[in-house]
Amino acid sequence: AKRKRLGYARYDASYDTETENHGRLSLTGELRQAIARNELVLYYQPRLDLASGEITGVEALVRWQHPERGFVPPDQFIPFAEQTGCIRDITQWVIGRAFEQGARWRAAGLALAVSINLSARDLLGPELPRRFAELLASHGASPHWFLLEITESAIVDDPVRALETVTRLHEMGFSLSIDDFGTGYSSLAQLKRLPVAELKIDKSFVMDMARDPDDMTIVRSVIDLAHNMGLSVVAEGVETDEVRELLYDMGCDYLQGYHICKPLPAEQLEGWLARGAAQHCNKGEIT
Ligand code: C2E
Ligand code: MG
Ligand code: MG
Ligand code: MG
Repeated sequence: AKRKRLGYARYDASYDTETENHGRLSLTGELRQAIARNELVLYYQPRLDLASGEITGVEALVRWQHPERGFVPPDQFIPFAEQTGCIRDITQWVIGRAFEQGARWRAAGLALAVSINLSARDLLGPELPRRFAELLASHGASPHWFLLEITESAIVDDPVRALETVTRLHEMGFSLSIDDFGTGYSSLAQLKRLPVAELKIDKSFVMDMARDPDDMTIVRSVIDLAHNMGLSVVAEGVETDEVRELLYDMGCDYLQGYHICKPLPAEQLEGWLARGAAQHCNKGEIT
């Protein structure tokens, strides 16, 4: 936040930099402590399988319950964690919790595929696949229960190393997904080389598609592209019945968005699934 000094409105940039640096420094320290203090929480947002009308998967989304700042959404600390390098600790925490939860659901007879977001930086080090293997073993989880979401920028930044890590994860049995598709700068040539199973259309195209013909065209093109390449396609940011029906008519495979359900803590999600999912899916049944 920019502050003005009293007196002349002569703007002193160094003042801002100092306060900002101070804020950043304390946030770094707090982020590192957040894990130890158990302040991070995973929420899960269901995705609807349009072929079966059932909820077949959820996306794990991290939140930070800060003692003073309150609820901090990931957009406010993930980019920052990426810059400072502590994203690796956050990722490690996230995958541990997601594997644990995935295994728990399987044990309870709930066959939910759990999607996990990875950062560009996670793909650059060689240690990620080994960490995944250790955590799978310690939670008795199978890689086939999980999808790993990576963004186009993760590939563009360092295609060689990213491809190496992604290939390794694929060989281990994980499915891969390109998140926020359409907002990055990956080429179709790069995409073709990646062992991915699905594309997720960015919500910026989906949210307004009923009103914006350009968005509608983009969404339709991505669905066709995905299918022509033998990939599944997910639309995120589905907020209305109208958009849901359009996507159904276009042959989209999976929907995610507030119209289906917002992200929830595991326990609440289980309650929602038990009482309302079927009902909800009927409500939106498309004829
Ligand atoms: P994303 O992976 O693209 O996740 C989708 C975001 O869209 C989530 O925001 C979700 O809550 C939101 N969303 C879902 N449905 C709707 C809808 O109908 N309308 C609108 N307007 N938004 C919707 P969230 O949870 O705030 O996460 C934001 C981003 O933070 C994620 O975008 C992802 O890039 C990042 N993120 C979240 N959790 C993690 C994590 O564990 N690790 C990493 N590396 N990144 C994460
Ligand atoms: Mg995602
Ligand atoms: Mg996304
Ligand atoms: Mg995103």
